[in-house]
Amino acid sequence: MSKKGYVLDSTAIIQGVDPNLLRCESFTIRELLDEIGEIGRRWMRIKTAMMLGKLMIRDPSTRSRGKVEEAAKEYGVYDKLSKPDIKILALGYELRNDENYDVEIISDDYDIQNTAALLNLKYISVGVMRIRKTFTYIKYCPACRRKYNKYTGTICPVCGHKLVSLKHLVNEESF
Ligand SMILES: [Zn+2]
Repeated sequence: MSKKGYVLDSTAIIQGVDPNLLRCESFTIRELLDEIGEIGRRWMRIKTAMMLGKLMIRDPSTRSRGKVEEAAKEYGVYDKLSKPDIKILALGYELRNDENYDVEIISDDYDIQNTAALLNLKYISVGVMRIRKTFTYIKYCPACRRKYNKYTGTICPVCGHKLVSLKHLVNEESF
């Protein structure tokens, strides 16, 4: 059985993917921490995830980096990738090939996704993760402030005011 894991790139972190909410361990590279800076809420989330062992900082081996560079050159995408991009991909490659992880790269970067596909690495985009949030709606009366669950009408049965729909997050998928 392979372990499940995620590799987070900077687009994932910047767009608010929280490693603490992911069901399995995630990995990223040192450069990403430098990029986001050690301040603010985002950094607090990252720091907490690292302390809880939910996020691991790893430097992929020279060998894995070489493999990714070689493939990127072969497919003509090498020029599109930054050094951190290569390392993110190498980390995914290494976890899958050397450590038997069922790994997915979470990224909204087209060139990372494209190269991941060329390397046969799984990836998902941050947008997809957002969609996996589940919402329900409740009706709310702005006049008398009553809330109605599972009520299909549009008018408040108590005061007759027009109801509004409130979005209510029921499940933030942690997968
Ligand atoms: Zn009302």
